[in-house]
Amino acid sequence: MDGTSSKQNNGILNFVPMKTLRDVFDLDNRVALVTGGSRGLGEEMAEGLAEAGCSVMLVARREQWLTPAVKQLKRMGFPCEGAVCDVTDPDQVTAAVEKTIEYFGHVDILVNNAGISWAAAAEDMPLDKWNEVLDTNLTGAFLFSQACAKHFIPQQFGRIINVASLAGLRGGMPEGLHYAGYVASKGGLIALTKELAAKWAEHNIRVNAIAPGFFPTRLTEPIMDRITPYIQSHVPMRRTGQQGEMKGVAVFLASEASGYITGQTIVVDGGGSAV
Ligand code: NAP
Repeated sequence: MDGTSSKQNNGILNFVPMKTLRDVFDLDNRVALVTGGSRGLGEEMAEGLAEAGCSVMLVARREQWLTPAVKQLKRMGFPCEGAVCDVTDPDQVTAAVEKTIEYFGHVDILVNNAGISWAAAAEDMPLDKWNEVLDTNLTGAFLFSQACAKHFIPQQFGRIINVASLAGLRGGMPEGLHYAGYVASKGGLIALTKELAAKWAEHNIRVNAIAPGFFPTRLTEPIMDRITPYIQSHVPMRRTGQQGEMKGVAVFLASEASGYITGQTIVVDGGGSAV
C-alpha cells in the first residue's frame, strides 16, 4: 500500500489520496446538538465534539447547570449556545432544533443523551414514574431524531448518537442498581438505533449508540456506594469509567472515522459485559 486508494470509474481506475487519520476525525464546520449537555456525560461529549471542530448547542431543562456549561465551553474558545428544553415536549424539541439552525445555520450531529432514572423495584414502580422515564429516555430521543431528520434528509447528511446503557443490554444486575423503566427505555433506544439506521442510511444518516457502564455523575451518585463492590468483583478493569473516557467514542461515531458503521452499540464498561 502506498497511501492511495482506487476508485473504479467506468472500468478506469482513478487513484485518490487516502484521507489521513487527522482528516477522518475532523469535525470542522459541523454543528452538534447535545441533549442533556449541561453536565455529566453529555457535557463531556459536547466538549469532545467542540475540540474536534464542532459548534455545539447544549440542551437541558434547568438553567442552573446549562448556563455555566455554555459559559465554560465559550471560555475555552468554542462556539456554543444553550437551549432550555424538555426533551419530552414536542414543541420545545422543534424550537430547540430551530434555535440551533438560527444560531449556526445548520445541524449535522445529534447526541441523544438526556436521561433519568427512578429507583423502585419493578413490582412497586409507580406508573407515572415509569412513563416519565420512558418519555425522557426513549420518546425524547425519538422526538429529537425526528425533528433533526427533517433537516438531515434534505441536506443528505446526519449523524445520530444515542446514549443508551449497559442496562439496555442485559438484565440480572444486582438488586437496587437498575430499574425496570430505565432498563426498558435503554433497550428500546438500542432497538430504535437499529431501526433508524436501517431506514435512514439511504439519506447518509448514520445512527449508532453508546452503552456506558458506570460513570460517577449526578445520576449515579445515589447508588455509587452500593455499586462499588459490584464493580470491584464483576468488572474486569475493577473501576468506574473516568472523566474523558466518553468523549473519544462520541467523536469517533460523529466523524468519518466510523464511516461504515451504523446501527451499532459501542459498550464502554471496562469489560463488564464481556464476562
Ligand atoms: P446527569 O449528570 O444526571 O445528566 C443528565 C442530563 O440530562 C442533564 O443535563 C439533565 O439536565 C438532562 N435532562 C434530564 N432530563 C431531561 C429532560 N426531560 N429534558 C432535557 N434534558 C434533560 O446524568 P449522566 O450520568 O451524565 O447521564 C447522561 C446519559 O448517560 C443518560 O442518558 C444516562 O442514562 C446515560 N448513562 C449514564 C451512566 C452513568 O454511569 N453515569 C451509565 C449508563 C448510561 P436537566 O436536569 O437540567 O434537564
